[in-house]
Amino acid sequence: MKCSTCGKELSENEVRFCSMCKSPICLDCMRYTVVRKKILHKECFESIPVCKNCLPEERVKKKLAKMVDEVFSSVCDILSQNALRKP
Ligand SMILES: [Zn+2]
Ligand SMILES: [Zn+2]
Repeated sequence: MKCSTCGKELSENEVRFCSMCKSPICLDCMRYTVVRKKILHKECFESIPVCKNCLPEERVKKKLAKMVDEVFSSVCDILSQNALRKP
């Protein structure tokens, strides 16, 4: 198994998987992001491991902070916004 980010060979106990794209990643390349989930009328925050490519901060770094809120609205939203991003 190879890390999808840096290409390092990984043994079974070193490998981690991105929560978004399921790519194998090593501990060095693993990043955490916080997603906001809406369950019924409650909102909660969950920390998930992701690869660099899926790190929302990478994608919105140059945008204003208010954009982050939209991107974080949910994991599903992140994926669908990628496909149909509106200006
Ligand atoms: Zn790596
Ligand atoms: Zn990923």
